Amino acid sequence: MYSFHIHSTFCDGRNTPEEIVLAALEKDFISIGFSGHGYTGFDLRYCMKDTDGYLTEIRRLKDKYKNKIQIYVGVEEDAFAPVDRMQFDYIIGSFHYFCKNNEYFPIDSNYDYFKKCLDLFRYDVVALAECYYSSFCTYIARRKPDIIGHFDVITKFDELDTSLFLQNAKYNEVAEKYVNIAAESNCIFEVNTGAIARELCTTPYPRENLLHILKKRDAKIILSSDSHNIETLGFGFNEAKLYLRDIGFRYAFALVDNKFKRYEI
Ligand SMILES: [Zn+2]
Ligand SMILES: [Zn+2]
Repeated sequence: MYSFHIHSTFCDGRNTPEEIVLAALEKDFISIGFSGHGYTGFDLRYCMKDTDGYLTEIRRLKDKYKNKIQIYVGVEEDAFAPVDRMQFDYIIGSFHYFCKNNEYFPIDSNYDYFKKCLDLFRYDVVALAECYYSSFCTYIARRKPDIIGHFDVITKFDELDTSLFLQNAKYNEVAEKYVNIAAESNCIFEVNTGAIARELCTTPYPRENLLHILKKRDAKIILSSDSHNIETLGFGFNEAKLYLRDIGFRYAFALVDNKFKRYEI
């Protein structure tokens, strides 16, 4: 077991890093990575306010538990707020906001906020998707994060009521066009089970049609549970592995001995 998308009390997670390490040991993880939300000055609700304290604490744990588990210190960088990359072992690049007239609207934190994003585009979901994916792909090409975070997170609330995206052929066309562009970066795509743990989605991101494209392009993938508490650490990984194997994937990547290496799923 491996997981590199984990949030703690240093950002919007519920458990301390040490509680998470102990839970990971109990679940026989070989290697884990913390990915606190990078500092976003325009919205302080979700991000780390004490990045130095975070770095110090994760390094302390890395040393304390070095004979039992590998621990890495990463960050989930928001596309609007670049971090100092040198401070971290790896970065997950994610796109969490629409920005209009200097106001930032969170995409994925809850359904009410998401509806405000829809409002910004007068419920034109294809225009919203075009804006989201084109901006995200520009960020990916420029920044080349180690891991691309929840690529199609705009579909997070799609299974709650009327499907706006997944049943919409025009939406799928846009998403498929841009997943091809993102794949050219050669970054690792995360297969994120976070919204399944929250009972919002029945399949991970990216959705199945995008995973088929990634498989065809021989893209690298990494399993992540985007955990905000210890209960969801590694959530749904066994099912996700079977699902990925059905699509044709044989390998996923993990950070082991300071390198992203592939292992059989
Ligand atoms: Zn995120
Ligand atoms: Zn996250």
